Amino acid sequence: MEIHRRGSSGVSDRSDEFIGESIGESIGLLSRMPDIAFINGRFVPWAEATVSIDDRGFQFGDGVYEVIRTYRGVPFELDAHLERLSRSAKELSLLQPYSRTQWMEWIREGVKLAGYREAKVYIQITRGVAPRDHAFPPDVSPTVVMTVRELHPLSPAIRHAGVAARTVEDLRWGRCDIKSINLLGNVLAREEAKKAGVFEAILVKDGLVTEGSASNVMAVRAGSIVTAPEGPRILSGVTRTVVLTMAAKERILVEERFFPVDFLYTADEVFLTGTTIEVLGVVEIDGRVIGTGRPGPITRALAARWARLTGSG
Ligand code: PMP
Repeated sequence: MEIHRRGSSGVSDRSDEFIGESIGESIGLLSRMPDIAFINGRFVPWAEATVSIDDRGFQFGDGVYEVIRTYRGVPFELDAHLERLSRSAKELSLLQPYSRTQWMEWIREGVKLAGYREAKVYIQITRGVAPRDHAFPPDVSPTVVMTVRELHPLSPAIRHAGVAARTVEDLRWGRCDIKSINLLGNVLAREEAKKAGVFEAILVKDGLVTEGSASNVMAVRAGSIVTAPEGPRILSGVTRTVVLTMAAKERILVEERFFPVDFLYTADEVFLTGTTIEVLGVVEIDGRVIGTGRPGPITRALAARWARLTGSG
């Protein structure tokens, strides 16, 4: 039984391959779709998509972001992502520069310009450009960046086999519910996972599982799903919400509570949820086999439902 791990599995993010290509050069070339960049209300060639070194995103990580994906050119759960973006911005007293309707227009335009069927839209809002001083600057307008890049979905072979993970101490700050661009704790955890040759880092705070470095974590025990509750310790994943609604439709019991690492090791099934990975079975954690060593029936049922919902199956 082969367990796929990052690095050895051929999972690669090739989305950087078109960096540097200008929209003007490439827009007419059907064989080479352009990645799209947008700054402060304008679509610009990638090479012109630059921000000041005084930007507070660069100086302090003072900003928020979202990642939205498309299925056949249509942004998925756009409302939920924009709602979370607004909430994140509000929690940091960041000015939301565009209305919901305006955002929807920019995003749809960007997706159309890029032309990818499967794309990931990255949005970032920072507090803006100001001389370096920790406190909020008085008159500053936010910096808004959006990119649209091709999404390379995980292979069916990886989905079928499931992935390996390792646990890593959750070193992040106390407001993980805000989707802040401060991702150092996540970055360090993911690096640990990479060094261990596994797909994801599962974060553990005071002995309890919070979430993945870029995903939510669900354990299945005796037919019930157990997952960390919403609150300051986790990001309320858009995929998490959709999956928990699906679970209710499948009459699967859901318990939102923290659980210890041992509970993970002895779970019948473990799976991850996230915008780009969707529903992904975890079959090995810290070198221990989970359940039967294959994605279990509840993971498979939810993944199948996901594929039907998104038309990706
Ligand atoms: N937790 C963290 C820390 C994440 O970075 C992500 C990915 N955005 C998730 C959970 C999953 O969230 P979503 O389903 O909205 O992609």
